Amino acid sequence: MSNLESAQRYFDVAADHMNLSANMRKMLLTPEREVKVQVAIERDNGEIATYIGYRIQHDNHRGAFKGGLRFHPEVDGDEVQALATLMTWKTAVVDIPFGGAKGGIKVNPKELSSGELERLTRKFIDQIHDILGPDKDIPAPDVGTDAQIMAWIYKQYSKFHGDCPGVVTGKPLELHGSVGREEATGRGVSIITNETLHRLHKHVKGTTVALQGFGNVGSFTAKFLHESGAKILGVSDAFGGIWNKDGLDIPALLAYTNQNGGVRGFPGGQAITNVELLTSEVDVLIPAALGGVFTREIAEHVRAKIIVEAANGPTDPDADEIFERREILVVPDILTNAGGVTVSYFEWVQNSQHFQWDLDRVRSELQKIMLASFDRIWTTATEKKIPMRTAAYIVGIGRVGRATQISGIS
Ligand code: GLU
Repeated sequence: MSNLESAQRYFDVAADHMNLSANMRKMLLTPEREVKVQVAIERDNGEIATYIGYRIQHDNHRGAFKGGLRFHPEVDGDEVQALATLMTWKTAVVDIPFGGAKGGIKVNPKELSSGELERLTRKFIDQIHDILGPDKDIPAPDVGTDAQIMAWIYKQYSKFHGDCPGVVTGKPLELHGSVGREEATGRGVSIITNETLHRLHKHVKGTTVALQGFGNVGSFTAKFLHESGAKILGVSDAFGGIWNKDGLDIPALLAYTNQNGGVRGFPGGQAITNVELLTSEVDVLIPAALGGVFTREIAEHVRAKIIVEAANGPTDPDADEIFERREILVVPDILTNAGGVTVSYFEWVQNSQHFQWDLDRVRSELQKIMLASFDRIWTTATEKKIPMRTAAYIVGIGRVGRATQISGIS
């Protein structure tokens, strides 16, 4: 099932619970604007290379469009649209004053030199700068993009519109970035995992975890969960996986991956495959890489009792039904990984106030928002006897729907 079909099916399940009219469903699901551009650059060897870039602005009834930019070979219009809708529900779930958007370029950034990546990013902004702005649409990092790319976006946009740090978040600290933004998604995932265990009357200390993905989100999730006493037994990335039944030494693994570019070959564990990791015997399973990881086939073999979705869209709706039947608790992406966009919001606030917060403030405000959002979803799920994902969609869609109605359409 495509990402877009999945996103729509989850929407429909919640919309049925809410008795949303067909017209309202259509209005809430249809993106406001879809932009697809050609991005041509000169490669270092003098050849011309052409890429396709997207920015899909899904909804801005609650505030400016907000969402990351993904540089990945599998980026396409459907995927970007699905991710843009997820951003709309996500910003509503954590109740920050933004709508939802997503963008990206179909490219493998690892195959480009730094100079080529800079030209690609700047050229993309040349093509779309008119639809961006601190009160219009604010990009951020996602898979395959980082603070350096955000710096180029900030500077390129400012060439057209005057100095404007608030047009993009996830910037480097030296260029109006926020402390705590880089760690934010992983920190949020760890807060949500801790709270889930707490609500289930379990202790994080000694809880066993397997983590798929060791990029920005996965590595910070591992760091914080390890610090709170969880045992990370397995970690995998795009090149391989590593397992230690007594718990991996996470600080050593972080140092190793910094040196070697991946977890493969880490001496403190034995090699495992991705499928072995996903079906391993652990308390908590955390997908923190790309979408579409849990298919119907794999869902039957998952042995964890709790899944915490750090990635966007890791679970196919068919797999989700299997998890429900098998009483595996799924804590949904639009809640779990909302720490990133929440600290993006803090960065945007700091940029507009020309005032910097310290790390304690960022972390404590993040904690407050994540816990309040968790509580809202948990309570809704418990009261209505529905899965947490449906509860999160009901809360998110409800907020966007009410804002849409109050705004009027003329
Ligand atoms: N790309 C991140 C996400 O999927 C962050 C978006 C943002 O900070 O705007 O939530």
